[in-house]
Amino acid sequence: MSPPHQRKVTLVSNEVVAPSTHVLTFTLPPEDPLEFVPGQYVTFYLSRNGRRVTRSYSIFSSALHHDRFRLLIKRIPDGFGSSLLCGLDPLRRPELVVLAPLGKFTLRPAGGRSILLVATGTGLAPFVPMLEQIRREEPSTPTWLFFGGRHPEDLVHTAEFRTLETAWSDFHFVPIVSRPSADGSWTGRVGHVEEHVQRMFPDLSGADVYLCGVNEMVNEMQDLSQRLGCPKDRIFVERYGEDAEDADHAAAQVVAPAPAPACP
Ligand SMILES: Cc1cc2nc3c(=O)[nH]c(=O)nc-3n(C[C@H](O)[C@H](O)[C@H](O)COP(=O)(O)OP(=O)(O)OC[C@H]3O[C@@H](n4cnc5c(N)ncnc54)[C@H](O)[C@@H]3O)c2cc1C
Repeated sequence: MSPPHQRKVTLVSNEVVAPSTHVLTFTLPPEDPLEFVPGQYVTFYLSRNGRRVTRSYSIFSSALHHDRFRLLIKRIPDGFGSSLLCGLDPLRRPELVVLAPLGKFTLRPAGGRSILLVATGTGLAPFVPMLEQIRREEPSTPTWLFFGGRHPEDLVHTAEFRTLETAWSDFHFVPIVSRPSADGSWTGRVGHVEEHVQRMFPDLSGADVYLCGVNEMVNEMQDLSQRLGCPKDRIFVERYGEDAEDADHAAAQVVAPAPAPACP
């Protein structure tokens, strides 16, 4: 696998898959394929008022495809990077520069332990290629995906997870909605992911826990997992908050990137 470096990527598709949530597909030139480990991310160099800023996004697609990758991006109102990226027109084939692959949020061998993947919102992204890896390498590992969103329509990719559950007996999908509509159309679990993990797993001493999403959920789940007996060194986290982006800046500096290209 080649070390992280700057790559030119081309946007070829931009789909709205849920309210304010887009799936962007980028291609890479044949001479610069992207090999990555499930859980890793890319960092875009963007230009804001002539200054370079970086924004990072977990790779949402299969690690077996090296000529393209997909991202799951929440468009934040007034958010600079997410609005810029989600506003791009794929018909114009815009080219951007990313540093990739980055990140250490990757699977460790479960060695007989269960795996809990816990996400809210676009924190789901890294778990899609990770599930593919678990199924390929350790298919008899009991694997649980807890996925929380505010409204049922925020829960993307659910049909795919239901299909996966049917095909893979050790995989269990637990969607949770915190604000279902009053019409009773949501008949599934209601509340926050933390409550449901605690109810279903009062003892986490035999599990590896992977957490991804906004800082608040990740911090709460990290504390809870420890209280429920999960060893500290078996809890793995990826935070999407502002502090995390600072850490990411540091990572991006490692390879001393060239000045930011202007964005289309
Ligand atoms: C390693 C890593 C991987 C990431 N992967 C993804 C991913 O796969 N998908 C994804 O959508 N994001 C991901 N993020 C977050 C992403 O990098 C940006 O932080 C996010 O898109 C907001 O950037 P922005 O420029 O649009 O907003 P900014 O202009 O930076 O912020 C505008 C305002 O929005 C607030 N804000 C920032 N993020 C959120 C949020 N999530 N919800 C509500 N308000 C927010 C800020 O506090 C600020 O007040 C990841 C972050 C890291 C560090």
